[in-house]
Amino acid sequence: MTDDYVLSLIDRAASGRAFTGGQCFACGGEPTAGQGEHVIPRWTQRRFDLFNQTLTLVNGSRIPYRQLTIPCCESCNNGFLRDIENAVIAFLESPEFSDPGPRVTLGRWLCKIFIGLLVKETTLLVDRRDPSKGSILSQDFVEEFRHAQLILQSARKRTIFHSLHGPHPFTLYMYRIEPDDDFGEFDLSTNLVGQSIAVRLGPVGVVFVNDGGLQYEAGRKGPLDLDGRRLHPVQFSEVVARVHYKAALRYATHSYTSFETPNEIVVDQVSVRPFSNVRLEGGAMQIFQPWDDIECAHMIERYRPFQGPPVYDPSTGRFTTTLSNNRGGIQSPKRFLRRSS
Ligand SMILES: [Zn+2]
Repeated sequence: MTDDYVLSLIDRAASGRAFTGGQCFACGGEPTAGQGEHVIPRWTQRRFDLFNQTLTLVNGSRIPYRQLTIPCCESCNNGFLRDIENAVIAFLESPEFSDPGPRVTLGRWLCKIFIGLLVKETTLLVDRRDPSKGSILSQDFVEEFRHAQLILQSARKRTIFHSLHGPHPFTLYMYRIEPDDDFGEFDLSTNLVGQSIAVRLGPVGVVFVNDGGLQYEAGRKGPLDLDGRRLHPVQFSEVVARVHYKAALRYATHSYTSFETPNEIVVDQVSVRPFSNVRLEGGAMQIFQPWDDIECAHMIERYRPFQGPPVYDPSTGRFTTTLSNNRGGIQSPKRFLRRSS
């Protein structure tokens, strides 16, 4: 689709032009006049009837999905971005959980939405600032944005990732979702600080973290080893809250090298780079800040699709969730919801 090398397009987009110059978020080139790219794709809005749904931005304003757009050029929009959308639509026709291919597809797709939200939010923050005060884009931020772009843009050209923690340099868990009319077919949640994003699309729930796959260090099947399992929408929201919480505790990033030939891109995850020199018992470097069950309980409440009793009861010291019955098993969410209503 282009004679340009993908890595140079990424560098152009990540140099700040996607944030400050109103350039195409995917290649940094001239955007096409008009609406731009919908962060929540139009097919998703149609299929799940989301035209009047709104997203609350970090600055507190609410924006309808139909107006949530970012600058994009014709060539990216009708090229590799459309291919990703079509691959997700095809996957939803007959979801396959054991094949690793769809995980990469869904990873790219969620990464695209994550990048879109990040560009939208950052642009708003940059706009409100006095440009003479300089950029708010830190070096770590730009590096991690560049990494998210590598995941997304691996759809343009064959890309080989050598990853330290798992099959790909991001964390992704997938779940089969039990239908329940009370909770609809769609749910979206993000934690931009932790760089995590989750979506429930009918029979499939997916959560993605732009962390180089660091959460795989705590187990490849994610919270409570539930990857691939069948979950109620409320249970999915609890798993997602745990992933969002863990993502916010990340206290390390990675170093990468990448090179490109006319036929392929090779990305090597070289090392983990902790943000501190703290060592854990046993001598390993700290890569996550310490987990706190009570903070996590608040996170679960925040991401729940209903108002229920507190997850943590300070008077008894007990935690009540639909994922754990305190004996390590999964509670029936129906029973839980009846009790809490
Ligand atoms: Zn472009």
